[in-house]
Amino acid sequence: MVNEKVLVIDFGGQYNQLVARRVRECNVYCEIYSYKTPLEKIKAMNPKGIILTGGPNSVYEEGAPSCTKDLFEIGVPILGLCYGAQLIQHVLGGKVEKAIVREYGKIETEIDGSKDALFNGVSEKTTVWMSHNDYISKIGPGFEIIAHTLDCPVAAYQDTKRQLYGIQFHPEVLHTVQGKDILANFVKKICKCSGSWRMDSFVEESIKSIREKVGDGKVLLALSGGVDSSVAAALLSKAIGKQLTCVFVDHGLLRKDEGDEVEKVFGAGGMFDLNFVRVNAAKRYYDKLSGVTEPEKKRKIIGEEFIRVFEEEAKKIGAVDFLAQGTIYPDVVESGLGGESAVIKSHHNVGGLPDYVDFKEIIEPLRDLFKDEVRKAGLELGIPEYLVFRQPFPGPGLGVRIVGEVTEDKVRIVQDADYIYRSEIEAASNEYKKKHGEEPSWMPNQYFAALTNMRSVGVMGDERTYDYAVALRAVRTVDFMTAESARIPYEVLEKVMNRIVNEVKGVNRVFYDLTSKPPGTIEFE
Ligand code: GLN
Repeated sequence: MVNEKVLVIDFGGQYNQLVARRVRECNVYCEIYSYKTPLEKIKAMNPKGIILTGGPNSVYEEGAPSCTKDLFEIGVPILGLCYGAQLIQHVLGGKVEKAIVREYGKIETEIDGSKDALFNGVSEKTTVWMSHNDYISKIGPGFEIIAHTLDCPVAAYQDTKRQLYGIQFHPEVLHTVQGKDILANFVKKICKCSGSWRMDSFVEESIKSIREKVGDGKVLLALSGGVDSSVAAALLSKAIGKQLTCVFVDHGLLRKDEGDEVEKVFGAGGMFDLNFVRVNAAKRYYDKLSGVTEPEKKRKIIGEEFIRVFEEEAKKIGAVDFLAQGTIYPDVVESGLGGESAVIKSHHNVGGLPDYVDFKEIIEPLRDLFKDEVRKAGLELGIPEYLVFRQPFPGPGLGVRIVGEVTEDKVRIVQDADYIYRSEIEAASNEYKKKHGEEPSWMPNQYFAALTNMRSVGVMGDERTYDYAVALRAVRTVDFMTAESARIPYEVLEKVMNRIVNEVKGVNRVFYDLTSKPPGTIEFE
């Protein structure tokens, strides 16, 4: 499908996905593979260039991730980053040792000599991001040093004849001021990639290849209303129309009006040509959840019930040829299939499905894309912005934003409170944008209302109340692994509080959650 690609060979570094992202930002397609990938397979992919990532090991340790000389003889440009740079030297006659002064953080680097390849357009002195305990103390024959720092004699090297390059710092990290230029020089100038990988060509090419693969077969997709499954549905619909059936299970734990919004876009008379089945299963879920208070147990019940409902629908539809899933690239890498990272992530609403549906093959049209690329594809396909830029939402939905037992009434309370909260945050942020031309610095990356299981005494219209407390959560985070509470202006919070106690029956108190992650989680269950 894509004819120009760069391979990122993963040695376990923490920034490996970033490397791939930066390359794609140069409009060059790229994929991550483990260092264990056989050389034959690498050659067969016919890459225009190869990047070796950083990694936690020391190249001189016994059993450290390695590669053979043959890799450097396949005739395509290779760039080693940090561990990768050390490895090239280790294999090709240089020397790597424990550094006397380890470098960590922003460091000034001086470029030595030629700036016609990797460092084209890079300033003589430039700030880079370093993170290493070892250093290259001697370079092998054929190499020349092209950058150094105060404590690091070989900050970068090259051998233009063999097209081998190495840098000790991390160009993929934004703290490396000209990192993007360096990577762009590598993929464009050195590897000679044209840089024509674009989202519209992705959409077009995917449609073509889906048609080829599916033929006149039938495809079944579990549509959750989230970004990934929505984009997958739109793409498949453009490719094969009514050969696609989307089953949308409304478990009654969605955000306010969300089920109807999904139906409006994907249902009959909507924007896409497909068969749409909405299953209103709220009652079933509430019955199953009645009396259950333990968070893990709630999650499990919701997950199992999803499979049950989906299975029943699948039976009605009969055997299909393909089961489609909205898997995206980080899921592939995180599950250990692409790179070296060990974390296993199970998909909230596809986990276990394959066992329950009668199908021949799985089809995952978004498997190569990062989240922001999925969003771009979504816009390209004409999915409305509010759907494409939707906040992350857990598969078990509001089931995990209600502490204690889930009931229909509690769902109503949390839906209404959350709706008010979201609209006020949006309004405040839009107003700020109008005035200042940019998003406010407090704008949370994720925010929602949750229902605590606490009731307390209040007074409303001279009458004593005994009602629930709503918790407002809002966090700022880059990676969703760590987070801190967002500093939403007091006036905004006050307005939200006022509206919630006035408009949502059953609530007489509103709390703002200040907890960071860790020790808290982003969700509230
Ligand atoms: N572990 C190697 C070192 O400490 C490489 C580090 C890295 O790739 N970030 O030098």
